[in-house]
Amino acid sequence: MTITPTRIYSREDWSSAFVNVQEELTNVTLNPARGEIPTDLKGTFYRNGPGRLERNGYRVHHPFDGDGMIAAMRFENGAVAFTNRFVRTEGWLAEEKAGKVLYRGVFGSQKPGGRFSNAFDLRLKNIANTNVVRLGDQLLALWEAAEPYTMDPVSLDTRGLSHLNGVLKKGESFSAHPRFDPSHQERPRMVTFGVKTFPPFPSSTIRLMEFATDGPDAGALLNDRSDKFPCFAFLHDFAITPNWAVFLQNSLSFDPFPFVTGRKGAAQCLASRPGGKGQFWLIPRDSGRFAGKEPLIIKAPSGFVFHHLNAFEEGNDIIIDSIVYDSFPLIGPDDDFTQVDFDNLPEGILHRCHLDLSRRIVQKNERITSRTCEFAMVNPLRQGLSARYAWMAVAEREVGNDPLQAIQKLDLITGNTRTWSAAPRGFVSEPLMVSRPGVSVEDDGWVLDIVWNGARKASDLVILDASDLSEVALFELPLAIPHGLHGSWAEFP
Ligand code: FE
Repeated sequence: MTITPTRIYSREDWSSAFVNVQEELTNVTLNPARGEIPTDLKGTFYRNGPGRLERNGYRVHHPFDGDGMIAAMRFENGAVAFTNRFVRTEGWLAEEKAGKVLYRGVFGSQKPGGRFSNAFDLRLKNIANTNVVRLGDQLLALWEAAEPYTMDPVSLDTRGLSHLNGVLKKGESFSAHPRFDPSHQERPRMVTFGVKTFPPFPSSTIRLMEFATDGPDAGALLNDRSDKFPCFAFLHDFAITPNWAVFLQNSLSFDPFPFVTGRKGAAQCLASRPGGKGQFWLIPRDSGRFAGKEPLIIKAPSGFVFHHLNAFEEGNDIIIDSIVYDSFPLIGPDDDFTQVDFDNLPEGILHRCHLDLSRRIVQKNERITSRTCEFAMVNPLRQGLSARYAWMAVAEREVGNDPLQAIQKLDLITGNTRTWSAAPRGFVSEPLMVSRPGVSVEDDGWVLDIVWNGARKASDLVILDASDLSEVALFELPLAIPHGLHGSWAEFP
């Protein structure tokens, strides 16, 4: 193993990505700076993330508070066209019109005027910035605390706030982390959830929803159940297996007082409980063989998890792989996110947890890598099943916490890795593995990524071969896109 002991990136290169997106481009043909576009790569790579980080001299306190901007890269006939649009949310339109910041942000962004003007303003600005997925003829821009915004999948024109044909109530939360079940239950589905929690009252409800993703009724709600849990819940992601939805409720406390009084954003009022243990909440899928049964609760190991890689069933048990931090990473009210000290932030490490459902215990919990990672996925056809390979963003150093600069393919059986690196001046975002159409070899396909190029102060689109992470093509985008969040692939249009 090669150890890179010292950090090799420059903070200035990393933080230079935190700029407003300056332009909205339409159908701009991209020509590769290196390599060629695979002719059998057909579909659209969508990516969401904060695109507006400053307004009238006021910068967001945390990039997660930036307004959602969608980038779409459409691959067709060996060519790729780029389109990007801000999501025309109610908040974005109002602030564009006013020319100033009108809302607080969940991660601590404040309106001008100090605590006095922020206290007791408990409105949430739906910034639609976390993920973007195709459902039926709609493109959904997701932000977990409220309803999705719907957009045209080709033009990216915002159609408006969506209640999914009456499925959602006004203001209902809708996760930014749907999971796409390839067809474990007779047909492909989008499985997702919403959480209702009532702090300081110790009660939360998870609504688990399954939507059709193909055929004439694509977008229709197929299954819908709600389960109540006797405590506060903060759930960003989850995992599915053919029969279960797996949630990890981290051990967190929530003190809303600093939010109400205007000192902190709502998410800054969350804190890991020292020594506390979380819980796995296992909800039977109503499309599976335990339909209608009660959820199971299992005590979880300590640590904090934003994202899971995947889960699968082994006999009657469940194995779940998650990226675990020692504690909830937070940008405090007096911190400058561009000056964050990575050495003082907990690092994300991939763990495998074996849940024994009959004894309702964690039978085994082990680290399966030692390198800082985030944004991990398996081949979409292996979602919810045992998978051999994972693709993820990792730090350049093999030990220690740094920004994400490389993409890694991990063999979950042998532990072998392949790596493509953008270091020293490049910074990767969530890699997206796309399976080669009509092929069932698990690592046959491509990995797509948007990379911040610190030398060019703009973004690159990279296509890698999923099997060995060799570079297939690289495009220099005519745009600077801040470090992004999540995205997806749609084979049509
Ligand atoms: Fe996420």
